[in-house]
Amino acid sequence: MSDSPDPSLVDQDVTFTSFNLDPRLQRAIARLDYSNPTLVQAKAIPLALEGKDILARAKTGSGKTVAYLIPIIQGVLARKTANPTEKGTQALILVPTRELAEQVTKSIEQLTLYSAKVCRCVNVATPLSEAVQKPLLASLPEIVVSTPSRALAHINSGSLSLRPSLTYLVIDEADLLMEYGHEEDLKAVVKGCPKGVQTFLMSATLTKEVESIKNWGMRKPAILRLEEGDADSESQLLQYQVKCGEEEKFLLVYVIFKLRLVKGKTIVFVNDIDRGYRVKLFLEQFGIRSCVLNAELPVNSRLHIVEEFNKDVYDIIIATDEADLNVHAGDSSDDEAAVKHEDNSERPSKKRKRSGAKQDKEYGVSRGVDFQNVSCVLNFDLPTTVSSYIHRIGRTARAGKSGMALSFVVPLDQYGKHKATTCLTAKRDEKVLTRIEKEQEKRGTSIKPYAFDMSQVDAFRYRMEDALRAVTRAAIHTARAKELRQEILTSEKLKRHFEENPQDLQHLRHDLELHPNRVQPHLKHVPEYLMPKAGGEGVMEKRNVGFVGFGKVGENRIRKNRAINRAKGKGKKADPLKTFKGKGKR
Ligand code: ADP
Ligand code: MG
Repeated sequence: MSDSPDPSLVDQDVTFTSFNLDPRLQRAIARLDYSNPTLVQAKAIPLALEGKDILARAKTGSGKTVAYLIPIIQGVLARKTANPTEKGTQALILVPTRELAEQVTKSIEQLTLYSAKVCRCVNVATPLSEAVQKPLLASLPEIVVSTPSRALAHINSGSLSLRPSLTYLVIDEADLLMEYGHEEDLKAVVKGCPKGVQTFLMSATLTKEVESIKNWGMRKPAILRLEEGDADSESQLLQYQVKCGEEEKFLLVYVIFKLRLVKGKTIVFVNDIDRGYRVKLFLEQFGIRSCVLNAELPVNSRLHIVEEFNKDVYDIIIATDEADLNVHAGDSSDDEAAVKHEDNSERPSKKRKRSGAKQDKEYGVSRGVDFQNVSCVLNFDLPTTVSSYIHRIGRTARAGKSGMALSFVVPLDQYGKHKATTCLTAKRDEKVLTRIEKEQEKRGTSIKPYAFDMSQVDAFRYRMEDALRAVTRAAIHTARAKELRQEILTSEKLKRHFEENPQDLQHLRHDLELHPNRVQPHLKHVPEYLMPKAGGEGVMEKRNVGFVGFGKVGENRIRKNRAINRAKGKGKKADPLKTFKGKGKR
C-alpha cells in the first residue's frame, strides 16, 4: 500500500507487535506497510482482544476496518489452533453497500494471506443469486461479509446458520446502515445471533439511531469517541466555502480545473444524476475529462471506477451520493417533495426514504467507500444534511493525508435565477451551511471563505456561457442513456471476460467523452490572453490557500507521462490542459 500514515493519525507509542498476535496474522500485517496502528486501532484492538464489545466513533479514513478485523482474525486463529476440527461461521460483518463489502473482503484477504485455509471468508453481498451463494456458505466459512438484507435472506432460507458458532458480529458504518433503511433487516439479523456474541459497532457519526443499537443486546460496550481534535486533523483537512450564483458554480468549476487550482484527485459531489452528466458534459467542452459515478450504473462498473480512481487512472469523479436526493429542476412532483422535507432535512422524510430504497437498497456509491489519495472534495451542490457533509469531506484527508473540501453555497437571493442550472436543494444552502458550521465548531474546526479573484475569473465567463449553452437537457439525457448502455455492456464484459483476463481491465475506461450536440473544439484551449500572469495561482487572492496536493508515492505511468509533457512545455507557461490529453483509448 502506498498510504503512509501521518504522525498525527497513528499512535506512535503502540506497535502492532505489542498485541501479541498469531504469527500468521502478524506477518500479514507487516506486509501492509503500516508503521503503527491508527488511534482507533490502538484503542480498540486491546479491548476487543479482552472480549469487550466495542462502540467506536471515528472519522472516515481512520482505519476502523482493521480495528475490528485484527481481533476477529486473531480470535478465529486461536480457536482453530485450540480445536482444529471445530466448524461453523464465527464472524458476521454487516455493511451498508456492496462496494463496502467488497472492500472489507479485500482487507480480510490481505490479513489472512498466511491463514486463508483456516480463516476463510465469503462475501454474500454480490450480485450473484442466492442459489449460487448457497454452496459457498455450505462450506461454513469462518467469516461472512454481507449487507443486512442478504444476510437475513440466507438466515431465513437456512443457508446461513449463526447458532451456535457465531462469536463476532460487526455492524460497520452503522450510521449509514440506519440511514439507508436497513434498520428492520439489521434488527432481525441481530435477533438471530446467539446471546453473548461480541459486537463491534463502528460509525463515523454517533447519531441517536446508532446509539439505539446499543440497546439491542450489546454487553456494556467500551465506548470510543475519537474526537476530530484527537487526530489533530485540523491541519490535515482544510475546509472552505464560496458563496456563488447558480451559473457561477460552472464558471468556478471550469476555472478550478482549467487552471489546476486543485492539484491531485478530486471528487465532485452533485445532488442528482442529471446534474452529474451536466457537469461532465460541460467540462468535456474544455477537454477536461471526468467520470460519473451514480446509483444507476451497474455495480461492477461502480466498483471498477472506484478501483481505477484509486490507481490514479482518473483525476476527477463526479459522484451523486444520495439516491434519495433524486430531484430534478423543473419537475413539479419532485419540487413538492423537495419543499416537503424543507423543515426537517436532518431526518429524511418517509417518502424520500422509500423512493431511495426502491431504487437500490444497497446503494451507496460513495459514502463509506475508501477512495484513496483524494486531494479535494468539491461540493458542487451543498449536501442537505450535516451528516452527509461529514461523510463527503471524509473522502479526503484519509489515512493521515492532507486534503481540502470546498463547498459552493448559493445564497437564497440568488436561488432560482438561472433555471437550467438551478438545483432545488440549493434553496436551503444557507440554512444547511449554518448547521454544518455549528457542527464543525463543536469539533474544533471551521469553514473559511475561499477567496477567488473574481476579476480574473470573470475573463472566463463568456467561454463558460458558450459551453453551458451547448449542454442542453436533451444532450444530458442522451449522454445519460448512452453511458448507461455502455456501462451495462461493459459490466457484462467485466463479469465474464475479465475474470480470466484481469490485465485487460486496464484498457477499459469510464471517462470517455459523451459528446453533447455541439462540439466546440476551440474551447479546449485557453488562449494566452486569458491566462492569469501568475498562472493558476494568480486567480487566488491568498496564495497559500487551496493548493493542496501531495506527490504520489511509487511509480505511475500516467503521472510520469504528464511530467514529461510538462517538461516539454518548459520555458513558456505550460497549457495545463495538455495534461488531460493523450489518454489511452479503449
Ligand atoms: P474507515 O473505515 O475508518 O473509514 P478504513 O478502514 O477504510 O477507514 O481505512 C482507511 C485507509 O487507511 C485504508 O486505505 C487503509 O488501508 C488505511 N489504513 C488502515 N490502517 C492503517 C494504519 N495503521 N496505517 C496506515 N494506513 C492505514
Ligand atoms: Mg469503514
